[in-house]
Parts: sequence; structure tokens; C-alpha cells
Amino acid sequence: MALFKKRATGKPGEWYYCLQHGKVEEGPQCRAADRMGPYATREEAAHAMETAAERNREWQNDPRWNDDVSDGPGQGSTGREP
Ligand SMILES: [Zn+2]
Repeated sequence: MALFKKRATGKPGEWYYCLQHGKVEEGPQCRAADRMGPYATREEAAHAMETAAERNREWQNDPRWNDDVSDGPGQGSTGREP
């Protein structure tokens, strides 16, 4: 089992959501930096991804995080004028 040769970032029974592959993974598969977790169940790991997605949507809908809506004066040229 080459996967267990080095220090593992997870072990069987621990669930992660892999940002690299966009899916839930169990145990040591990908770099810890690419994953969220560990979680006790696949459902929890999947839900973590949903939570992050919701957070992203909130950011996109929040003017403070969206440069595209900076139509006020004094914002400088963004090159996005029609
Ligand atoms: Zn992965």
C-alpha cells in the first residue's frame, strides 16, 4: 500500500472533500491542502462542500466582494464599461 508509506493526511474512515477533484474522498488520497476535513461521514464531507458553495454565492451577491458592481464615481477605470 504505497499510499500509507509516508505520513498520511488521512486514514480510512475519515472523509474529506477534495477541492482538486471536486468530490468526496475517504482516507489518504490527496494533499491535505487540497481538501476540507476530515469528517466522520461522507455526508458531512459533502455538506462541507455545499456550505462552501453557499458561502461563495453569498460573496458573489455581496457588493463588497464583487468588483463588477463598482459603478460609483471615483472607482477608476475597470475596463468593463459597455
Ligand atoms: Zn483528490
